[in-house]
Amino acid sequence: MVGAVLVLSGPSGAGKSTIISEASADIGEYYFSISTTTRLPREGEVHGKDYYFVSKEEFEEGIKSGTFLEYAKVHDNYYGTSLEPVHDALSLGKLVIFDIDIQGHRLVRAKLGDITTSAFITPPTLIELETRLRNRLSDNEEVIQRRLENAKSEILAVGEYDFAIINDHISRAAREFSIVANAARLKHSQIDEATFIKNWLASE
Ligand code: ADP
Ligand code: 5GP
Repeated sequence: MVGAVLVLSGPSGAGKSTIISEASADIGEYYFSISTTTRLPREGEVHGKDYYFVSKEEFEEGIKSGTFLEYAKVHDNYYGTSLEPVHDALSLGKLVIFDIDIQGHRLVRAKLGDITTSAFITPPTLIELETRLRNRLSDNEEVIQRRLENAKSEILAVGEYDFAIINDHISRAAREFSIVANAARLKHSQIDEATFIKNWLASE
């Protein structure tokens, strides 16, 4: 069995987490890849649920031992996807959802291109992104400015994705996301191709 990969990217504050939780009832069973990061937890974030929070030394140890499917430095912190749980979920035929940045998307595409579907999620404008980052009350001014600067270069990669979802109204964005997630499942048949063709021909 081979599952499917759905990569979500978009500026921090675009609404990726909100959209996933809003749509989760409509997208069937999936495995959300929990990343490892060296950034500090925000208030309310839980180790092992939102991220695995580790020190820089632990992360670099993971890089050396080949733990990561991909990793990148984003806003001066390391973020990475562990290979093993993703591999296990894919071999069970699951849809694996990644919330990773544009560098991570490029690496996942290069490694798992034939089973990957991707969507770039963004608020309608830069000013709306700023409003949301401020309303989230989770980052200080310096961090917000860094995220806004990063967003200006991230938006340039929107054309590299299969789909763009403009998160204006949350209900519409969640509906579009659920269509994309279900299409991602269908993109790669979960049945082994050779067996399917053999059985199909044998039905005569
Ligand atoms: P991300 O996971 O992309 O960093 P979040 O899901 O944390 O973003 O969303 C950032 C903030 O924007 C949160 O406070 C969230 O409640 C808010 N938000 C998300 N979608 C919308 C929307 N469509 N309209 C207004 N606020 C939104
Ligand atoms: P945040 O700090 O807001 O949670 O995430 C910052 C950025 O890091 C977001 O663009 C998010 O998609 C990205 N990110 C989170 N986990 C990973 C990961 O495992 N790999 C990569 N490449 N980017 C990640």
